[in-house]
Amino acid sequence: HIAAAALVLTLSACGSAEKTIDQQSGSSEGALVGVTMPTRSSERWIHDGDNIKKALEEKGYKVDLQYAENDIPTQANQIENQITKGAKLLIVASIDGTAITSQLQQAADAKIPVVAYDRLIRKSPNVDYYATFDNFKVGVEQANSLLKGLKTRGEGPFNIELFAGSPDDNNATFFFNGAMSVLQPLIDQGKLTVKSGQKDFKTVAILRWDPATAQKRMEDILTSTYGGAKVDGVLSPYDGISIGILSALKSGGYGTAGNAYPIVTGQDAEVASVKSIIAGEQYSTIHKDTRQLADVTVKMADAVLKGGKPEVNNTKDYDNGVKVVPSFLLQPVPVDKDNYKKELIDSGYYTADQLR
Ligand code: BGC
Repeated sequence: HIAAAALVLTLSACGSAEKTIDQQSGSSEGALVGVTMPTRSSERWIHDGDNIKKALEEKGYKVDLQYAENDIPTQANQIENQITKGAKLLIVASIDGTAITSQLQQAADAKIPVVAYDRLIRKSPNVDYYATFDNFKVGVEQANSLLKGLKTRGEGPFNIELFAGSPDDNNATFFFNGAMSVLQPLIDQGKLTVKSGQKDFKTVAILRWDPATAQKRMEDILTSTYGGAKVDGVLSPYDGISIGILSALKSGGYGTAGNAYPIVTGQDAEVASVKSIIAGEQYSTIHKDTRQLADVTVKMADAVLKGGKPEVNNTKDYDNGVKVVPSFLLQPVPVDKDNYKKELIDSGYYTADQLR
């Protein structure tokens, strides 16, 4: 064994992708990695957790995988426990991106690197890397697909309503800003009208992405605003929220032969929502292949644990309030009835049976 700092060879490719070979690699072998996910109530996080665990174990790591059912103190405790158990690296999909600052300080004090998974951890210097999808683009694609759907309903002008995700999740703002970059000019031109008048992020955000809260908000909007009028489209940031919105619309008399559902978007390609798309209820979703995200994250973790530098492709967009976190962004894919077979079945993400 070569002592101490070891001999590190850095191979630089195109300036951006750096791979490091740590000649002392034995040191990270079999290390424990702590993985914390927000909740099992949405199927995507179950896929994420399973995929990360499997990929880490294939590389010989031990994994402590925890879910917190959207409870912030639970997640903070889980991270503390992982530090106590001797985790050598933490992968965190946070519930509230600002609520685990003291746990991350403990991690830093113990020299445990932290990778933020999918959601940026904010207001802490102790986050080393970030793996996610291009979140602004998710919003752009949601808006584009809303417009694609509305086009099938005529020339407009159209009445739309807006929903955003949880205000404590950094992604929610990115999704909303991305969507509004497409929708705002059309609102300004009078081609789209937000009839309820509820347009700013704070007013349309749904705490913890809760479907029941979204359902209630949609019901209230229908009652207060849509006496004789019709909603033509709803910007929804997430499939669970879309399900709540569609329930409210159903109670409001939509979804019948003479009164089609408005165009409703979504995100995550969750099974129930893909089925709803196939049935002609929800219009679209955004597919983010959690297999790819797990793969990128595990490669990052492995590089860091071996004393190297992981590959990143964005070092400017994700400022967490203290620092810009080096990130790897993957590409989201809009999915509707036209392409769900190709994107979700042919790609092996789901079997045809799962969507029946
Ligand atoms: C994720 C989305 C997900 C949402 C609700 C966001 O942070 O990026 O994929 O729909 O959380 O779970």
